[in-house]
Amino acid sequence: MKKIKVIGGGLAGPEAALQAAALGCEVALYEMRPHRSTEAHQTADFAELVCSNSLKSESENTAPWLLKQEMRRAGSFLLAEADASAVPAGHALAVDRIEFSRRVAARIAAQPRITILREEVATLDPTGPEILTVLATGPLTSPTLAAELQRLTGSDHLAFYDSISPIVDASTIDMSRVFFAARYDKGSADYINCPFTKEEYDRFLDALTAAESVPAKPWEQLPNHENLGAPSLAVSSPRMGSTTPEPALEKPHFFEGCLPIEETARRGRDTLRFGPMKPVGLTDPRTGRWPYAVVQLRQENLRADSYNLVGFQNHLKFGEQARVLRLIPGLENATFLRYGQIHRNTYIDAPNLLTETLQLRAHPSILIAGQLSGVEGYTESIASGLLAGRYAAALAQGHAPTPAPRASANGSLSYYITHALNPEKHKRFQPANITFDLLPPLEEDLRRRIRDKKERHRIQCDRALAAWIAWLNQPA
Ligand SMILES: Cc1cc2nc3c(=O)[nH]c(=O)nc-3n(C[C@H](O)[C@H](O)[C@H](O)COP(=O)(O)OP(=O)(O)OC[C@H]3O[C@@H](n4cnc5c(N)ncnc54)[C@H](O)[C@@H]3O)c2cc1C
Repeated sequence: MKKIKVIGGGLAGPEAALQAAALGCEVALYEMRPHRSTEAHQTADFAELVCSNSLKSESENTAPWLLKQEMRRAGSFLLAEADASAVPAGHALAVDRIEFSRRVAARIAAQPRITILREEVATLDPTGPEILTVLATGPLTSPTLAAELQRLTGSDHLAFYDSISPIVDASTIDMSRVFFAARYDKGSADYINCPFTKEEYDRFLDALTAAESVPAKPWEQLPNHENLGAPSLAVSSPRMGSTTPEPALEKPHFFEGCLPIEETARRGRDTLRFGPMKPVGLTDPRTGRWPYAVVQLRQENLRADSYNLVGFQNHLKFGEQARVLRLIPGLENATFLRYGQIHRNTYIDAPNLLTETLQLRAHPSILIAGQLSGVEGYTESIASGLLAGRYAAALAQGHAPTPAPRASANGSLSYYITHALNPEKHKRFQPANITFDLLPPLEEDLRRRIRDKKERHRIQCDRALAAWIAWLNQPA
């Protein structure tokens, strides 16, 4: 049986390693921290959550719920540890990040088939007959390895920006100005809500849009990965809609699903009120009404001594953040434990490079998992690690792996990244979170008959779970 080398001890890597080991394979798990770190990691722990502590919705028949349900049925190790480290977060699964990492580390240590190597991997050997590689080095893959991957694939990477939300010390929140509530009183009131009047909102918006951003470095202004010393990174696949290099952007190319707040604010005076500062369903007990706008704070850890500002990722200078965020009612004297940030994101051109079983087309002994493969998000990264671990185990044992079924959430994500749906919508391949858009649509007559979106989603979820369970139960 071939050995499996898993590179990356973030979210996808440990899940892949544990899956492959549980299926009887010998696994070497490489992680470069603490010898070398990334711009975002702060510890040497496995499964470090670098920003928010949320693994998204647990509301039944939502797409993130479906993905997690499938993962639970497949015995996801990291999701089990996330469940065991959950903190109150209404309808979301949020975890105590320290406890989560501790539990994942214990799980790996208890698996005798996994050997841990704390070193940076700089080269990839696709020809070694005895080794299968699962590359799960994430959005902040070390530059040396990223360059190696680029050399190996002969292909272009893409890059864009992501941002992280600030965290505030709970003891410095003015509790007399805020209120605990769940939207429409659904579920437990776990969120702290900072209510704005119109005047307060206008003042905040003016300050936010005028605040100074961190200047982009010259290479950061390019739409693609010139920072790796690569040639021009035009999206050359006709499937992806362009054959010529795209012009340099004058500002960073943000991921539309995770815009910095100041960028959202510039799109219109009410855009934030209809986005991350949406007040609907949040009744302020002091007025009995919904405020004009709201900033929500979500509990960070079990001790509840810190909260993150939900959806408040931004690209402002730290001093500017301190000034502007203190205009939020209740945070006038807040101490920020971490400010929002912007960061590099590396991912491959999956539609051109990957098979549906996450193998490099040109080098099938190398599988790519996690954010590097073009999925976006913690849960999605763990999910892709789960699949990569199972595929690698099948390959190690001499079987041809069967891709996850298209009808399932897991299969739809893999299908999306390897087929780049909606090329006209996204000029370049953009990583994806799980959404119902990725799942196969219902038949036309069903869509016409069933007007209720929730009911349509329920049917899609039932179909997905049935297909997923059938796939899990198939031999080998
Ligand atoms: C700053 C930031 C904030 C984010 N915020 C969120 C969020 O709030 N919510 C969300 O759902 N998603 C978020 N993401 C996106 C994504 O879900 C996470 O990055 C997630 O951790 C990806 O999992 P992964 O396993 O692919 O990569 P990672 O978790 O980053 O793991 C990769 C690991 O590989 C290691 N490594 C890198 N290069 C090498 C090498 N050459 N040799 C050995 N080891 C190496 C790294 O040290 C790291 O431990 C964020 C990403 C970043 C960068």
